[in-house]
Amino acid sequence: MTATPGYDPQNIFARILRGELPAHKVYEDDKALAFLDIMPRCPGHTLVIPKAPARNILDIAPEDLAYVATIAKKVAIAGMKAFGADGITIQQFNEEAGGQVVFHLHVHVIPRHSGMPMKP
Ligand code: 5GP
Repeated sequence: MTATPGYDPQNIFARILRGELPAHKVYEDDKALAFLDIMPRCPGHTLVIPKAPARNILDIAPEDLAYVATIAKKVAIAGMKAFGADGITIQQFNEEAGGQVVFHLHVHVIPRHSGMPMKP
């Protein structure tokens, strides 16, 4: 797949996709990967990423974004069941000013329990 000019193929998630760095995978198919966040804000905090080399939502093809959203929903439902959660927080950050730290599009799927705040 061809990366867009703003995409750095050495970013951490690209390296996880290539198997160069380890990750605790919870879902994988030919177009998306979901794995546990290394610094979970709540138990079960999972990241869903496209296999397409997209920097963020400003960069990704609409069909790839729709697919990631579909997988994020599946992971959310599975995460709620697995962790006995009462709800789910979905977060997605774009560019440094928008809070993005790793520049390969990712969706945070965070199981939540009533009365339990997320870690900052
Ligand atoms: P964001 O770019 O949306 O601000 O956050 C990046 C997320 O990636 C953070 O929640 C951070 O804990 C997570 N993260 C950073 N490096 C790694 C890594 O090497 N492995 C995993 N599994 N998660 C990571």
